[in-house]
Amino acid sequence: MSSPARKRELGRGERLLPGVWRLRLPLPWPGIPHGNAWALAAGDGIVLVDCGMHEPGSFLQLERALDQVNLSVEQVKLLVCTHAHSDHYGQAAEVIARSGCELWMHPNYEHMTSYAADPEAALEMRIEIARHCGVPQEPLEQFAQSRRGQGSGIAGVVLPHKQLLPGVQIATDVGTWSVHETPGHAPSHVSFFEPDHRLLISGDHLLGRVAPFYDYGWSPDPVGEFLNSLEVVDRLDARLCIPGHGRSFTDVHAHVVANQTLVAERIAKVQAAIARRSRTVVEIVPEVYGEPANAALGAWWMLETLAYLDHLALIGDAVRDGGDADLSEAGKGWQWRAS
Ligand SMILES: [Zn+2]
Ligand SMILES: [Zn+2]
Repeated sequence: MSSPARKRELGRGERLLPGVWRLRLPLPWPGIPHGNAWALAAGDGIVLVDCGMHEPGSFLQLERALDQVNLSVEQVKLLVCTHAHSDHYGQAAEVIARSGCELWMHPNYEHMTSYAADPEAALEMRIEIARHCGVPQEPLEQFAQSRRGQGSGIAGVVLPHKQLLPGVQIATDVGTWSVHETPGHAPSHVSFFEPDHRLLISGDHLLGRVAPFYDYGWSPDPVGEFLNSLEVVDRLDARLCIPGHGRSFTDVHAHVVANQTLVAERIAKVQAAIARRSRTVVEIVPEVYGEPANAALGAWWMLETLAYLDHLALIGDAVRDGGDADLSEAGKGWQWRAS
């Protein structure tokens, strides 16, 4: 299937600090044109933090970005992944094949291995969830059609040589980084902190832009996990945050507060939407985001709203009914109400 022509970004490398380079790698997603990998000087080589998504020609972009800052993939002594999403882990197999490096990653990566093993089954699961959310048949089929056969963005599954858990240290010329579990965005998410310069490598947990995303279906309460993980990074008192997308930023505490505020606002809107009667997720979405779900962002909004509802159910503020009804009929599916 041919995709509409779009101006693709190229891989770009730039120095952020002595011994820290940003590798800006293109992504095929609307609204998210690129992601960051980071190279950290380590003796005669580098530690690579994340490695970009796998798609045709993508490895050349990583090589291009490294070359712009006089580095090469052969210099990678260690690959660490902030989490196992395709845009951070996708090229791990190729990096390892080329450099012979080790991969360190958090052990809760099942969300990636099951997705990589069968992307079509993962898509079917999402469609089933959307049906339960009250999405009518026609837009659902359009969504499925647009996604089928897109591939996983993962070159191959390689399992970590070492588990990135608290207590593990990553030695670089910049300093020694500690590992902090920050699930919520993804169950495999970790952040790294270097105390001498108070640097935080935040992956997708904390970005310059406040845009929460929860990898739905792998843990009972990703929203609760995310809120807890915000406190984890806030306590580190970082001076500079080095994120998985976009530019690095100071005011780390202000970014934590902005995320907490937005999540609290959205949860309050979800609660208001189910206060008086039972609603489906599709009915709740416009009251949270100010407009009905659209093709570009509908799936994202639905899963985010569902994550808030699960969170409310876990703390005893919401109940879910139904789900066994005839789902082919529009408006059927899970009904949520306040309890
Ligand atoms: Zn991610
Ligand atoms: Zn990402």
